[in-house]
Amino acid sequence: MLMKIEIFTPNRISIIIGTFAALLLVLLEVFLAWLGLYKWSYSIVFVSASVGFIFVYIISYLLLNKLLINKIFPLYKIISEPKNEQSFKKSLNILKKANVDVANWVVQKNQEIDRLKKNEKFRREFLSNVSHELKTPLFSIQGYITTLLEGGLEDESINRKFLEKADKNINRMISIIQDLETISKIENNEIELHYENFEITSLIKEIFEMLETKAAKRGIKLFLINPSKPYFVHADRQRIADVLYNLVLNSINYGKDNGHTTIYIHDLNEKILVEVSDNGIGIEEKYLERIFERFFRIDKSRSRDSGGTGLGLSIVKHILESHQQNIYVKSTYGVGSSFSFTLNKA
Ligand code: ADP
Repeated sequence: MLMKIEIFTPNRISIIIGTFAALLLVLLEVFLAWLGLYKWSYSIVFVSASVGFIFVYIISYLLLNKLLINKIFPLYKIISEPKNEQSFKKSLNILKKANVDVANWVVQKNQEIDRLKKNEKFRREFLSNVSHELKTPLFSIQGYITTLLEGGLEDESINRKFLEKADKNINRMISIIQDLETISKIENNEIELHYENFEITSLIKEIFEMLETKAAKRGIKLFLINPSKPYFVHADRQRIADVLYNLVLNSINYGKDNGHTTIYIHDLNEKILVEVSDNGIGIEEKYLERIFERFFRIDKSRSRDSGGTGLGLSIVKHILESHQQNIYVKSTYGVGSSFSFTLNKA
């Protein structure tokens, strides 16, 4: 529809009207000559037709432009930015300009609508995920307490066990709420990053120490390549510790018994790249782009059994993005995965 309008620019319409006027003049002169009231001459006909054409062309062009400005400008003002308004009035081809600007405006509005629709879908999914995630441990706790109240409390074989299970579920709810709180704080820019220069290999060793008992339970070995080579980076140490903790924890949770987790540090020009690699269960290609979404888990029961909330990688991504850095994942199903992220050098 927008393309059709372009054909009828004021210039083209004025040419058409001007040509008609010139033709009419010629016809009038022919008619008058036929009646004998007028002496026919090619040069007079040519001059009068040209003058007629130019005169009518100018008048209709000015009128059309004025009309278009009066009609279109109020509408154009709604869609255009104030800085464009003056250039619109001065524009030689108003319809063409309005046409282009309206087309751009339509694309922009459509994109905005798409984004709002996505946000709305995301918000609905998120709410239903949160309530589902909290409902599961809550109902378990309710079940244990009811059993205890209905006589289980006096039953030595179950009372302690059920209380411990209820406690485990409460801890699970606390982890979910803490993770949600972290995500919302990062998203709302409520977490101030405390940048400092620090040495990253010593931080990796600290994380290994925190997780070595968990790794040992599954016979998983933790390696750092070139452990004595220092690499200084500029970042929030505590937040990068959270990133490393989550990635190493995942490599253990989704690793294979007696497998390994290996961290490589690659020296890039102005950055370093930290790669956390495992020989675990791996991730099918179709899931790779979804694993950073909140609550996305490939194997829900495996994730829950290992205490996962489905929020770890989402937090990792948020932290790195707030550092203006990126995270990359490579994985082969059944062979292993590798998560790498960049940091600025100190
Ligand atoms: P979770 O709390 O479930 O571990 P994450 O956000 O940390 O949540 O990870 C999302 C999902 O990505 C996990 O449930 C798991 O399916 C998959 N995943 C993450 N890390 C790995 C890994 N190293 N190997 C295989 N799968 C992984």
